[in-house]
Amino acid sequence: MRIVRTIAEVRAGVRDAKRQGQSVGLVLTMGAFHEGHLTLMREARKNTDLLVVSLFVNPTQFGPTEDLSRYPRDEERDAALAEREGVDILFAPEPAEIYPEGFVTTIHIAGITEVLDGASRSAHHFDGVATVVAKLFGIVAPDVAYFGQKDAQQVLVVRRLVRDLNLDVRIEAVPTVREADGLAMSSRNVYLDAAARRQATALNRALDAAQVLAENGERDAERILDAARAVLGDAGIEPEYLELRDAETLQPVTRLESDALLAVAARVGAARLIDNHLLRASS
Ligand code: AMP
Repeated sequence: MRIVRTIAEVRAGVRDAKRQGQSVGLVLTMGAFHEGHLTLMREARKNTDLLVVSLFVNPTQFGPTEDLSRYPRDEERDAALAEREGVDILFAPEPAEIYPEGFVTTIHIAGITEVLDGASRSAHHFDGVATVVAKLFGIVAPDVAYFGQKDAQQVLVVRRLVRDLNLDVRIEAVPTVREADGLAMSSRNVYLDAAARRQATALNRALDAAQVLAENGERDAERILDAARAVLGDAGIEPEYLELRDAETLQPVTRLESDALLAVAARVGAARLIDNHLLRASS
């Protein structure tokens, strides 16, 4: 595995692979790898010839009061884990390589970025995401890129970006990888002390409770959400949001008549955590 810091080096590596007719896969990450990241890499490893992983804590997707400065960073450990997964190129640029002096372009995707995490984090969160994803697609020119369903809204944003800008990359979404007790894996789980770690299991349990209701035929969104609210309440968690929205458009849903995203965000101890389940209308 090669660790490279410059756009020119990544491009050279990709060019060589493409010249030999190889396919190129990309996994975008902010590092602090866990099984979620490694699962994306394994999927990509199975399906592409040259596997590029980007490791970049993207400053433009953090709000001014968010955790950019304390976000967990351990490149040495990440590099060892990536190498074990058969990654070919680890692209770990400095911020100035991605945002040089004079950088002024921002991609804004309307509509789906203004709700859920777009409403509860900084309004510019998804501008930062869309812009850095577009740049990394421009730098690596992958045939396929892998994203985690854990960040369901991000997957929708990236799919919209690709469609609206005619980017020639296939997007694959990978199911959320969880701890044994159901907590969605996240780099931010390291912020949880023992008590908060126990409390955090309520997020997935709340989504489970709502999903069971839906699977038993409940169609009323408020009743489905109430089941989740009850579990969160018992755990002493006040969510930043708990919403049922159309799985494609993210419009609010009052009755479960097509596939819907049940999404939650909450502060638990020192962490802000998100999770979601896809509720199938046909189940
Ligand atoms: P991050 O480093 O948190 O920006 O995540 C990099 C990629 O890994 C994104 O596509 C995430 O959606 C994905 N990811 C993060 N956590 C998980 C998880 N628990 N299961 C599956 N994918 C994940």
